[in-house]
Amino acid sequence: MNDLSNSEYDHATCAPRLLLVEDEIRIAEFVLSGLRSAGFEVRHVKDGASGLAEILNGEHDLVILDVMLPALSGFEVLTKVRDMGDPVPVIFLSARGELPDRLQGFQMGADDYLPKPFFVEELVARIRAVLARKSGHVLDEISAGDMTLNKVSHHATWRGTVAQLSQREFHLVECLIRSPNHIFSRQQLLKHVWGISFNPETNVVDVCIQRIRKKLNCQPREGRMFPIETIRGVGYRFCLDEGT
Ligand code: CA
Repeated sequence: MNDLSNSEYDHATCAPRLLLVEDEIRIAEFVLSGLRSAGFEVRHVKDGASGLAEILNGEHDLVILDVMLPALSGFEVLTKVRDMGDPVPVIFLSARGELPDRLQGFQMGADDYLPKPFFVEELVARIRAVLARKSGHVLDEISAGDMTLNKVSHHATWRGTVAQLSQREFHLVECLIRSPNHIFSRQQLLKHVWGISFNPETNVVDVCIQRIRKKLNCQPREGRMFPIETIRGVGYRFCLDEGT
C-alpha cells in the first residue's frame, strides 16, 4: 500500500510543513484531509523507520507521531531524534492515552500528546499552538490569565480545554478578555457583539455565555463561575484569577 502523500513540498508557499507518521490508513486519511483543509502541507509515512528517516531529512516544521507503529514505535523514534539533538516539535497521537504514557511522552521531549479518538479541529489547534510557541509568534492570539483566543481559528483554550467558538461566541469572549475584571452590562455586550443598540427583551447574551462556559468546561469556585463571572442584575466580567 502506498503512502497517502509522496509529493514533494511546494517551496513556493509558506504553509507550515508537517509530517504524519501513522499506520492506520483510515485515521491517516481523515487527519490528512483535515490538516490540508486547515492550510498545512502534509507528508505521510506509515512506519517508525520511515518516519525517523523523514524527520532526519530536517524538512518538517512539526511531526505528528503515532505511538504504536510497525518497525519502530513512536517512543523509539522520538528517543532517537532527541538523542541526535534534533529539536523538531513533535505531537504524539495515540490510543495509549493513560497518564503514564502521556507523561513518558512528555519526558521524552514531546511538545504535546493527543489521545485517540480526537477531533481533527483539536489537533489543528494544538499544532498551531505548538508552532506559535516555537516561533515566538503569538500575534494571532489574545490572552488574559489562563484564557487564550486564536483570532485565525477561533479556538479558545482555557486550562487545557480547547473549544471551537462560533463567530458570536468568539467576539463575546474577546470583548470580555480585552478588559479583564471590567463589568460589561448585557446592553453593552449586545451592542459590541450583536450590533444591537436598543434594548430588546432578549436573553441571547445569557444563552451565548452558557454555551461558552459549557464548551470550555468552566467551573464554579467559591460561589463564582471562573473565568466568566455573572454579576447579578448587571452583566458579566472576565475574572483574572488572582489566587493562582
Ligand atoms: Ca498505530
